[in-house]
Amino acid sequence: MKPAPISDRLLRPILDAFLYGITVQNASGDLVYMNQAAAQLMGFSSQKTPLRKGADGVRSGFLMYDAEGNHFPADRLPGRLVIKTHTPHTATIRFRKPPSTKDHWTLVTAVPVFTGDTLEGVVNVLHDYTKHARSDALHKQVQEHENTLRMALDVANMGVWDWEIPGNTFSWSDGTKPRRSLTRGNKQGTFRQFLNHIHVKDREAVRRVILDAGKKRGKFEAEFRIPGRGKSHRWMLKRGEILTDKKGRPARMIGVGMDSTRQKKMEAELAEGNRKFRAVFNSTNVAMFITDTRLRILESNTAASRLFFPSLRSLSRLGVPEEVSTLNGDNELIITTKEGVTKTLEYRVHPSFLPGKHLFVFHDITSRADEDQRREHLLGIASHELRTPLASIKAFIALLKRKYLKKEYEGMTAYIEKIDETSDSVVRLVNDFLDIARIRENRLELYREQIDLNTLVRELAADLQLTIPTHTLHVRGTISTPVEADRQRISQVLINIIKNAVKYSPDADSVIIRLSDRNGSPRISIRDFGIGIEKSEQKKIFRMYYKVHAKSHKRIYGLGAGLFIARTIMERHNGSIKIQSKPGEGSTFHIDLPISSKP
Ligand code: ADP
Repeated sequence: MKPAPISDRLLRPILDAFLYGITVQNASGDLVYMNQAAAQLMGFSSQKTPLRKGADGVRSGFLMYDAEGNHFPADRLPGRLVIKTHTPHTATIRFRKPPSTKDHWTLVTAVPVFTGDTLEGVVNVLHDYTKHARSDALHKQVQEHENTLRMALDVANMGVWDWEIPGNTFSWSDGTKPRRSLTRGNKQGTFRQFLNHIHVKDREAVRRVILDAGKKRGKFEAEFRIPGRGKSHRWMLKRGEILTDKKGRPARMIGVGMDSTRQKKMEAELAEGNRKFRAVFNSTNVAMFITDTRLRILESNTAASRLFFPSLRSLSRLGVPEEVSTLNGDNELIITTKEGVTKTLEYRVHPSFLPGKHLFVFHDITSRADEDQRREHLLGIASHELRTPLASIKAFIALLKRKYLKKEYEGMTAYIEKIDETSDSVVRLVNDFLDIARIRENRLELYREQIDLNTLVRELAADLQLTIPTHTLHVRGTISTPVEADRQRISQVLINIIKNAVKYSPDADSVIIRLSDRNGSPRISIRDFGIGIEKSEQKKIFRMYYKVHAKSHKRIYGLGAGLFIARTIMERHNGSIKIQSKPGEGSTFHIDLPISSKP
């Protein structure tokens, strides 16, 4: 018996109850029926809307894409293909019906309906799998994130690890590189196995930290050693978090781990360096300050607090210049201590010894300065006393010279010459001491007169040449501006510098003295081809008693006061002495004088 045909009225509610979308097209492709699910899926407000000629979806304002997001052409719609080919067709189409921006991922299956050989129409079954597609896309995204993360971890020498607690599987990736029980790569084991590869001394602590975090459902951090070969070990830093299941039980623990050996070593070195510095900083009797770049005191050591007022907040208060680059080498400072005692301090700065911080070191040189002063005072007195006897010695030598300057006393005259030279050195020494005393007591007086430097320098060079057999003194150039200066003192400066030029160029045979007008002011430049002076020494050689302590010219005699006196003389003339020098190539001393106020 043939089953009774189901009436249209009965069929519709059945089809509407279907989860799948169902549409029916006639043989021309017109949409003649759709169930509720199909209307919803395609974004129609009513099942009636598209039931008109030619409304197969394309003409109803759909946007259609394929799975890759490319436009899906209407002639590839399965319904149309069925009408063309009379065979079933399937396609994945993403529908969107503006203004909605939501895509419906739909699997469309179209089958032909025949009556006999004639195509009656097409039935389309639409399966909306948007939810699935979304989770697929999500999955893909997660994977991409994971890849990026892995890459980042690799670069940072880190690894991920994951403990699935109920199953007790512990897995970790390359970055964490366990050394012992488990091999390289992605490893798995139990929690116990994981603990076993930790240094025995750290094992218990790590276990406690992790289990504690488990109990508290929180985050944790553990640093521990992993034994290596022999007594060596590596440090690991693991950070992680416990994830709980729906019932709040710890389910997974995930986190990152990294090899912190290098960091640990650096920390240890840093701590040691810091300890050493602290020990020195606080136990030395040298006063030290750490300041910011504006010289505000950030830290001071015990010696500093003993010497300076506790209210001292900034070193600029003491007159230390903020532009520390102008401070090179040792600098002097005179202060009054908390006890009201005047002290002479010598200080040095280590600019930016830490980023944005300077270190100042102060030495108390009061006793040295006092001693220098006492010595100078004594020498001053002695020199003064020596002046008269020296003058008579010189007079007697002159007498002797005159008397014995005859052929028959040839041997004798050589001795007399020696005595003369030696007594000259003593006279110079005495004069230097007297000058130092004058400078110290501010008694250096100048007797200015109008002088012609061209004549003065040429005459002086000619005189000096008589006593210098080793070098030729070349005088070049002229000075056109007249000067008003102390003839004696200027000569003294020139003699000193020319003699130095000879003294410190033992392998050369000439010294060049050049006269010029520099920016209209007279300049005398004395150039030698000798040992030269290191840049760092160039300022220092003008200090009292300063000598460059190089093995190379240890044997060259000198008090080390000549340039100090010369500079003072030039400064008193409102002039200056500048140096240009290169070790091994020689030096040029420029003596600059101001233009005379009275032409
Ligand atoms: P000294 O009596 O030692 O020559 P000075 O005050 O004249 O004393 O010079 C100080 C130091 O400067 C010298 O000891 C020497 O080291 C250095 N000096 C001076 N002139 C020259 C020069 N022309 N070449 C190299 N070094 C020099």
